[in-house]
This record gives sequence, C-alpha cells and structure tokens, in this order.
Amino acid sequence: MRELIESGEKSFSFEFFPPKDEAGEERLWRAITELEPYRPTFVSVTYGAGGSSRDTTVRITGRIARETSLTPVAHLTCVGHSRAELAEILDAYREAGVAHILALRGDPPGGPHTEWVSAEDGLEYASDLVSFIKEHYDAAVGVAAFPEGHVSAESLEQDALVLKAKQDAGAEFAVTEMVLRASDYFALVERARALGVDMPIIPGIMPILNLNSMSRMVELSGREMPDEVRARIEPLAETPEELRAEGIRISTELCEALLHGGAPGLHFYTLNFSKATREIFAALQITV
Ligand SMILES: Cc1cc2nc3c(=O)[nH]c(=O)nc-3n(C[C@H](O)[C@H](O)[C@H](O)COP(=O)(O)OP(=O)(O)OC[C@H]3O[C@@H](n4cnc5c(N)ncnc54)[C@H](O)[C@@H]3O)c2cc1C
Repeated sequence: MRELIESGEKSFSFEFFPPKDEAGEERLWRAITELEPYRPTFVSVTYGAGGSSRDTTVRITGRIARETSLTPVAHLTCVGHSRAELAEILDAYREAGVAHILALRGDPPGGPHTEWVSAEDGLEYASDLVSFIKEHYDAAVGVAAFPEGHVSAESLEQDALVLKAKQDAGAEFAVTEMVLRASDYFALVERARALGVDMPIIPGIMPILNLNSMSRMVELSGREMPDEVRARIEPLAETPEELRAEGIRISTELCEALLHGGAPGLHFYTLNFSKATREIFAALQITV
C-alpha cells in the first residue's frame, strides 16, 4: 500500500460507510460503480460507533474484494471490543479477503467530547491496535491523523508523537480528518516529519455541499469553520444550488493547493454519493 501511495502518481481514495437499509445499500453500490473507473488506490469502509456496523463492514469490504477491481480498506475500532473480539473480527476480514485495515481507537461510547473508557480486556489506543494487528495478521495497516490535532490531544506536539507511535507500531500510511485549510495539513506533515514520521499522510476531503451539515461536522470535530470559507458560503444560505456550486469551488481550490504543495494524494469522504467527488475531479481535470 505504501509503495502504491508513493508510486509517483497522485493517490486517490474514497471512503464509504456501511448502509443501514436496502435503499442505502443500492446507493452505496451505485457510488462504488461510478467511482471505480477512477482507479483509486483503495476504497475504505468505516466501522460504526460502538461496533454497531461490524457485520456490514465485513460484508461490504468482502464484496468489494470479491466483485470489483478495487482494494478495500476495512476500518476497525477498539470501542467496546475485548482483544478476543478484535481477533474474531480480524479473522472475519481475513476470510473475506480483506488485507488492509485502518486501525482506530474510535470515539468514546458517550460521544467525541466525553471521557474514553476502554473495554474489558480491550485496547487503550490506536497504536495498541496497530501492534495487535501486526503481531497476529499479515495485513497492511493505516491510521488516522488530525490536521489541527485530535480534539482531546494535550498539544500539537503530543498529537504528532501519537502519530509517530502509530508508525513505530507498524502503520504504513495515514489518512487525515477532513482538512479545512491546506496550511493546517502542511503544518501537520512538518510536525510529523520533524519527529521521523516518514509514512505517507493523505489529506481527507469533505466536499462542502450544505451549510448546516458542514457546520455540524466541523463542530463535531471540535473545530471551527475557517472565516474565509464561512464568508464565501454563508451569504448563499438561502440559495442552496449556488451554495453547493461555491462549496465545490472551495473544495477544488483546497485539493489543488494540497496537491501542488506536495500531498501524496486525496482521500474523499463520499458519504456514499459519487457526484460531488466526480465534479471535483472534473474541475481538477482528472478524467477516467
Ligand atoms: C481517517 C479517519 C477515519 C475514521 N474512521 C472511523 C471509523 O470508521 N469508525 C469510528 O468510530 N471512528 C472513526 N474515526 C474517528 C476516530 O476513531 C476518532 O477521532 C477517535 O477519537 C480517535 O481515534 P484515533 O485512532 O486517532 O485514536 P488514538 O490515536 O488512540 O488517539 C486518541 C486520543 O488518545 C491520545 N493518545 C493516543 N496515544 C496516546 C498515548 N500513548 N498516551 C497518551 N495519549 C495518547 C491522542 O492524543 C488522542 O487524543 C476516524 C477518524 C479518521 C481521521
């Protein structure tokens, strides 16, 4: 995976979440089919808070491995799982043909702003999960990184040390939380490189399509929407079509700044739709 990301070509990847019903499942497969021609380096499928989507994540990643040309990366979190349960899930991923895992701690069961409590005989940090996977499985492991620091990190320095600990445990690539400003991403890369983190760090892109949902997601991540973004989209709050078009322009400019500044690629949070990602690709003049 690391070689693929660093092959010289920019790496594109897409993130999906496990659908809750049949209509959602259809939408997911439509998005996968529409994005497959872009030949992403990988596609990833999230793991629901508290392990709620465990079976669906295993099933969807297994089907991607079997029925498409894509490389699935299955997310896995420590939330609510003992070591034995984590081993069972990893066995299920292996049996489904999934050899790439994004190892995460997960948010505290009470929500991102509450205190973290690990499960009985469970793991404390994502770096422990990386070690656990590397000890028992022949899998390539990725991890999360945070352009403005994790919401409960003591400092940006400590946050970068956590990323180093994940690499030392065996992680070979990182994907960031949605980037709001290119400069935050480059500052993260600089902090990490200064500590000897040399794995590729792929910036996460959340296309701006709707003021309320974007504001909510930014708030959930414990951050604030940059003033320069707010100034461009807030005046369009009453005209959703215009807001969406401006949001796509802002996201495209962000992608350009990231790629021109040396990011190894882009990871799109698709929310199981392909249209916005395809529009950004068209604006970036990336064709299938
Ligand atoms: C790309 C990406 C994908 C994600 N996918 C999912 C998903 O599928 N499902 C889901 O539920 N959540 C997902 N999340 C959210 C993620 O689980 C939360 O942000 C979680 O709070 C932190 O996870 P982590 O893996 O970074 O944890 P960690 O690296 O363990 O960090 C958690 C906190 O502990 C601190 N910490 C870590 N190690 C140490 C240490 N040794 N000593 C002291 N403090 C330490 C860190 O500073 C941080 O504040 C994703 C996030 C990203 C960026």
